[in-house]
Amino acid sequence: MTTVLVTGGAGFIGSHYVKALLRADDIAKVTVLDALTYAGHVENLGEALTDPRVGFVEGSILDAALVDRLMAGHTHVVHFAAESHVDRSLAGGAPLFVETNVLGTQVLVAAAARHQVERFVHVSTDEVYGPLPAGMASEEDLLRPTVPYAASKAASDLIALSAHRTYGLPVCVTRSSNNYGPAQDPEKIIPKFVTRLLRGERVTLHGRGEHVRNWIHVRDHCAGIELVRREGLPGEVYNIGGGTDLTSRELTGELLRLCGADWGAVTYGPDRLANDVRYAMDWSKIARLGFRPVEDFAAGLADTVEWYRRHQEVRRAPLTRDCATPRARVTLGTVREAQHV
Ligand code: NAD
Repeated sequence: MTTVLVTGGAGFIGSHYVKALLRADDIAKVTVLDALTYAGHVENLGEALTDPRVGFVEGSILDAALVDRLMAGHTHVVHFAAESHVDRSLAGGAPLFVETNVLGTQVLVAAAARHQVERFVHVSTDEVYGPLPAGMASEEDLLRPTVPYAASKAASDLIALSAHRTYGLPVCVTRSSNNYGPAQDPEKIIPKFVTRLLRGERVTLHGRGEHVRNWIHVRDHCAGIELVRREGLPGEVYNIGGGTDLTSRELTGELLRLCGADWGAVTYGPDRLANDVRYAMDWSKIARLGFRPVEDFAAGLADTVEWYRRHQEVRRAPLTRDCATPRARVTLGTVREAQHV
């Protein structure tokens, strides 16, 4: 039976992944390791936390002793934990991004190699390829990240792949395009714009809003990761794409319509210090494993907006959140940990 350590499982994508994982009947145990930073919310896991196979440990991937102890009880690792917001990396957060994304990945792969885990999936991003004014990035392309977030992810991809080449750790790397869906932290463009528009506030587009991103539903992304965990070849990288290409202005138009607002709610601000003009990936390699995105963009975006409409109070809290009391959080981690480790 398979036992899976999911890092960053209280975040946006990780929590969707845990729910998807629990639908498989060969999963004996899932342990979520999450530091509950501003982006991690235990409540994202919802009913998954009541599943007897699930344990939750509050802790950091940088805690080598904790990681080593947890690794011993698991056959598979799916690694989401990261600092993930480009704007934070541009606003002085780069050292934390390097620490969490690069050093944290090193701590994990070292422990995974020591404990000879059967599969290590490292979750990464199309941003590592850097801007592509035309054409599509394939898995063999050079990495040309521009912003500190993307550079730290590129470094972590190379760290993970080096553990395959050096120690034979069965690592797969996945690189996905931009995700959308329910329960994303309201700092990223879709939830930020939706929560503001629903409150009747204005939103600001970077530059002229001409940057192109490929939007994939978080459930399609998780299905791709799960396929790679089961069937990916060790040492290989898999692009996960197939979403909908939109400029940020086109995306804003869709969000205005769904939120019942108009262009009067939009202002144009200075562009980011660096803002890649376009990302695009060739995802034929994972398609050969059988991957096909199934979520319809229009329906998925409408559902996402509806989710924020229903959760306006819940989602507002994290904007000013200083987390639950440490006592409550440690207790949860300790109780869950005791059941499973
Ligand atoms: P997120 O910011 O919502 O979640 C990150 C999670 O990691 C949070 O729960 C946070 O508490 C946890 N975390 C942070 N530092 C930690 C540490 N030191 N130890 C343990 N846990 C820690 O991010 P997300 O959008 O869910 O992204 C998850 C992964 O997917 C990231 O690796 C990101 O680079 C990658 N990715 C994201 C997207 C996207 O569009 N959001 C696209 C492609 C790839």
